[in-house]
Amino acid sequence: MGFVLTSGDYVDYIERTAELIRENGDYISGLDAATGDGDHWANMNVGFESLVSAGGELRKMPIDAAFRKIGMLMMSKIGGSSGILYGGGYMAASKKCAGKAELDAPALCGALEAMLNDMMERGGAKPGMKTMIDALYPAVEAFKKGLDAGNGEKEILGAVKSAAEEGAEATRTMEAVKGRASYQTNKGVGHLDPGAVTMSWQIAGLCDLLAEKLG
Ligand code: ADP
Ligand code: MG
Repeated sequence: MGFVLTSGDYVDYIERTAELIRENGDYISGLDAATGDGDHWANMNVGFESLVSAGGELRKMPIDAAFRKIGMLMMSKIGGSSGILYGGGYMAASKKCAGKAELDAPALCGALEAMLNDMMERGGAKPGMKTMIDALYPAVEAFKKGLDAGNGEKEILGAVKSAAEEGAEATRTMEAVKGRASYQTNKGVGHLDPGAVTMSWQIAGLCDLLAEKLG
């Protein structure tokens, strides 16, 4: 049997990720100070705190409604590019899993792909432009590849997590094409993209939680 992701699991993941974000303010603010305007941590932290506050309500919803609510909260609570991108991304994920109370591995992969596509359309970024897409895109590719190959779900989750982390790390040497880092004279080269790092933490956290569920 494979994993089944419920809204309760998703709130568990949100709570853990919120804690990780809360504890890393100096690190993420520092990354955005080097490449942008320094507010990425504050933006994500406010957003995740609002999700934690809504946790009780989210737990009781089917996953499609939970994703819609998360999208609305992120859109309204997070300032900057991230709020619009995550807000729209979660709305697209919600539409993709319309009518589903919970998600198995292929359905989760589809939801993540819908989120990725919405973010790329909305923000106009493609892989290699030094944005959060550089963590999400390879993670979705690894997920699809693992499912197509019929790999075990533990293996797939490990590959998805690694792809996201390696993708974020790869932004260090990239020249920014989208986002505020593209306004810097050196295009942010030598610095990690903050949005890619927080995206990789979210993907890694979800993969870890699901791998624990599989036992
Ligand atoms: P802002 O850039 O408006 O201050 P944040 O600081 O919250 O917003 O988020 C910055 C992050 O958003 C960047 O590190 C990058 O990963 C991501 N980002 C910015 N613009 C785009 C875009 N057009 N497409 C995808 N991601 C983007
Ligand atoms: Mg910023």
